[in-house]
Parts: sequence; structure tokens; C-alpha cells
Amino acid sequence: MEEITMNYIVLDLEWNQSPSGKKRIFKSLPFEIIEIGAIKLNENFEIIDKFQETIRPVIYPHMHHISQEVTGFTTSELQHSRRFPDVFRQFLSWCGTEEYRFCTWGPLDLTELQRNMNHYHLPLFPAPVFYYDIQEIFSQLKEDGIVRRSLEYAVDDLHISHQGDFHRALVDAYYTARVMSAFSIDEVLPRYTVDTYQQPRNRKEEFYISYGTSSKYVSQAFPSKPAVIKDPEVVSMKCCICQKRLRKKIHWFTENSKNYYALAYCSEHGFLSGKIHIKKNDSDYYFAIKELTLTDQKGADLLFERKKDYQKKRNQRPKLTGSLSNESILKH
Ligand SMILES: [Zn+2]
Repeated sequence: MEEITMNYIVLDLEWNQSPSGKKRIFKSLPFEIIEIGAIKLNENFEIIDKFQETIRPVIYPHMHHISQEVTGFTTSELQHSRRFPDVFRQFLSWCGTEEYRFCTWGPLDLTELQRNMNHYHLPLFPAPVFYYDIQEIFSQLKEDGIVRRSLEYAVDDLHISHQGDFHRALVDAYYTARVMSAFSIDEVLPRYTVDTYQQPRNRKEEFYISYGTSSKYVSQAFPSKPAVIKDPEVVSMKCCICQKRLRKKIHWFTENSKNYYALAYCSEHGFLSGKIHIKKNDSDYYFAIKELTLTDQKGADLLFERKKDYQKKRNQRPKLTGSLSNESILKH
């Protein structure tokens, strides 16, 4: 049997931002990439290659003072670099023809990369774009899974020796690769996630990842927020283990109409807590990221408390007249 090898492209980008005070020239391109750095790891998480190129900014040609402070690049320094499409094509061919997955520190890089690709009408990566968010994995394996640390914090925490200044693409990619390879391959590999710059185009394409006792789902995009949270698939709660559609103990409620919470119960596998995060895409459509996690009595009690607090606050507020509050508890 032929073995399929998998490489890991640990990617880090530096970008310039649109000038402050003025209206963005391109709403769908808030950040213009000025540097791509990447480290290629083989399937044993060993470093086998590196990539580093700077890019001449042409949409926001003057370095924003914040970007200049962070990256150290000045406007004149980048004048001799090539433009994004040329550097990107070179990067893509460097990634190779073997199968690979991207790894980044935090969830931003792949979204901004695809925004830049889209701006130049370059073909996007085939969706779903699965990747490893090493910042999230660091939190899951070293902390509570919720807190997000800086790359510098993780490097020091794992006693990785300093090899250069942070906030340069290749150095940050190298550090991210070192953090990644500080964990065992078996611990990292099941913890992939999915980038949401491209949403599923229809119900059949919707993204679903199972992590055993938890799951992640990304819905297609809808024209309005209420349409998202009324969708039967979005609000359904299926047990992560037996896939049974469960009855809710707490119906979806929200404190800010951005994040919704719910609780369900599987007679075989116990409580299931749910969180839906509603996001807006670049076409002003809305989609849901739903995370379901099997939990215990303590986790269930926390959610009951949270809902009680929410109801108390709601009852203290002056009654809305004429229209329904969109923070009302949804019954499904
Ligand atoms: Zn179950």
C-alpha cells in the first residue's frame, strides 16, 4: 500500500493596515500582506525547509505607524520587493505537491491570506480549509483551552531558546513550529480546526468536525442574523458520541445577540453544552459556528446559573414596546 505523506506548513504573515482616520479604500481588504514566512515540517514534525519573502505594498503603500512599529519595516524598505501575486505563486509552489496542512499562531493569518488572494482574483484554497491553530492547541494542552497567550509567552513557557526578534514572519513561523513540535504528534493531530473565510455554499457542504466528546459545525451563510438562529440545523443539538438529536434543557439564549448558549441531555452520554457564535462575512451575510461539548453536572449547573442571571438582568430592564427584543429566548 502506498503511504500518503503529510507535511505541515507553519505560516506567519506580516501586514500593513489601511490608513487610520480615512475610510478604508477596500472594505474587504483591511490588511495588506507585506511578508510571508513559513517553515515546512514533515509528518514527524521535523523542520525540512523554510520560506521568507517580503512584499511591496501597493494598496496601502505607506506603512501605518502601528504596522511599522510592530514589524520594523519602513515604507522605503519594501519598495524593491515584488508584488503579492508573484510572491504568493512562489510560496504556493514552495508548499509542494505533497499533501499539506497549514498551521498558524491564532486564527487570523489564513483569513487575511485569502482576503489578499481574493483581491487579486487568485483561486482560493479548496474549502473547507482545515488547519492547526497552535495558539488554541497551546491553550488546550497547557491551560484551560480558553485563554489565548502571545507567541512569546508560549516560547518562554516551553523554554525554547530565542532565535531572533518576534514579529518578523520567518522568526514567528519558526517559533510557532517549535511550540507545535514541543507537543506529541498524537496530541496535536486530532485538534485541527477550520478557517471560516469561505463558508459552505449549501447545506450539503456545511463543515462538521468531531473531536470525540466535542464537535464543531460551521453553517452556510444567511442574509440576516434572525435567519441564522431560526435555522433548524443551526439550533439542533446532536450528541457528540451517538449523534442522537437531543431535547434541550435550556433553550438558546443570548446576552449580546452574538453568542448563544444552550444545554441538552443525552440519556446515554449525559449533558451537552452548546455555544453558537454568529459571524458576519465580507458580503454582509451571517453564519454560525456551533460548538457542542459533553459536560458534567457542574458544567450544567454553571449554565443554569448563567441563564438565571441573564433572566434577572432582562427583567430589570425597561420593557421594550412595539417590537420584539432580538435577545428573546428562542424555542426550538
Ligand atoms: Zn449520546
